[in-house]
Formats: sequence, C-alpha cells, structure tokens
Amino acid sequence: MMAVDLDRLSRPERLLWGHGVRKPEHIDLEAIAGASGAHVIYRKLDGCAARLVAAGDRAVISVAADDNLGRKRFSLGHELAHWMQDAQRASFKCSSTDIGPQNAEAKSIEADANSFASQLILPDYLVWPWVAERKPSLDLASAMGAAFQASLTASALKLLQRTKVPIAITCHDQRRLKWSRRSRDFSTDFYILNELHQDTAAFDMAFGAAKGLSRPKRESASRWISGPGVYRLEVWSQSIRLPEGSVLTMLEVV
Ligand SMILES: [Zn+2]
Repeated sequence: MMAVDLDRLSRPERLLWGHGVRKPEHIDLEAIAGASGAHVIYRKLDGCAARLVAAGDRAVISVAADDNLGRKRFSLGHELAHWMQDAQRASFKCSSTDIGPQNAEAKSIEADANSFASQLILPDYLVWPWVAERKPSLDLASAMGAAFQASLTASALKLLQRTKVPIAITCHDQRRLKWSRRSRDFSTDFYILNELHQDTAAFDMAFGAAKGLSRPKRESASRWISGPGVYRLEVWSQSIRLPEGSVLTMLEVV
C-alpha cells in the first residue's frame, strides 16, 4: 500500500489521487479532462500549440496534432490548468513558447499553468519513489519519460528539483544558449557559456548528423561554464538532440 500524506499533495496531485492514480500508467489526462467537462481534440493548429475555449461549465481543448506525445501531453496539462484555475477568461491561445516545463518559475498565468502541467504529468508522489536513490542522468530522464509518457526535457528538469548533486540542464541551438536551469547546489557564480564548444558532443549534434543520446563524458568545465576556479574543474556532460533540433545537455560539476 502506498503511503501518501494527502494533506501535502499539490492541487494537481490531489486531482490525480482523486482519479485513482496510483501508478504512472494510470495518468489519463483525457479522462481527467472529460470528468471536468473539457473535451479534447487533436487537430492542426495555426500559430499556437494548444487552445482552450470555454462556455459555462464545458470547454473544448485543442492540441496540435503534429507535436510528439510528450509535448501533446504537456500542452493538454497546461490547458487543463487554464480550465481549472483561470476559467474567468473564456479562451486561451497558447504558443509553443508559452508552453514548456522550462517556463514554470516566473509569476505569470502561463508559468503557473506550466507548473500545474508538470505536477500532473510528473507528480511528486509517484516520481520520487520511482527515482529512489538513482543518480540524475539523461538516461534516467529518458527512462522516466517512457514510464510517465513525459518529454525528456520535462523529465530532466524534474530530476533537478531534489538532487544534491550540482547539475545544470542547458538547451542550445546552433547559435546560442536558449535556456538553462540549475539544481540548488550548482553555484550561481558560474555562467553557462552562450555558444557550444566545438569539441563537445553537443556541438556535433547541433551542427552535424549525430543523433541519439551521447555517452556521459568527463571533460574540462571551461568548455561549458565560466567563473571563479573553473579552469581547475571538470564536468560530466551528456547530450541529446531534441526533436525540434536543439540540443539538451546535462552537466554535473565534479
Ligand atoms: Zn497558456
């Protein structure tokens, strides 16, 4: 029997619990949407990743049909947040930059919806027992993504939340650093370099044909970060090319 303190669950977690979710594979977002009066359709959308149109106690959520499964689920979770928390507005049209697990910290309706979606797809009460004592890596994030039907990015960011290891997640395209997030113990004195270093696996992925998950590699920290004493440090890095072409990297300072 799973020991869960119901008083400590977040709102999205209580919603899942109330729907009988006790294992990752029980998370059926369409059923939860249906039970709350929202009908979900997948179709071609122009200029946005998902939208919500509400009328009274009913709503229609449209999700871009050509996104991958992890993105589609996150978009649905995001619109469910608008439906359940922000229903004073009758419609939302959310772009792919509004929707994403990396945008969950700012104080805005969109960030709140991302935070809600993250908990709906990767709820603490299931994720942390599943992770147990395993060390964060992109391999583990990939396994989490498969178990919870979550995107690799959402899974990797989840792993940052409770680790005591100094880890950063970076997302680069060919030109620049698009975003990065750090674990609590990753020093704020370090700057993540804006451009990919040409000797990294991430560079090969961004500019070449390299695909899949790179093997973890120990290399000079100065390929990735700048800051006090960095020239003496090394990092473990592991990278993967995301479906939209940018490269996600997990860095661990050693
Ligand atoms: Zn939104």
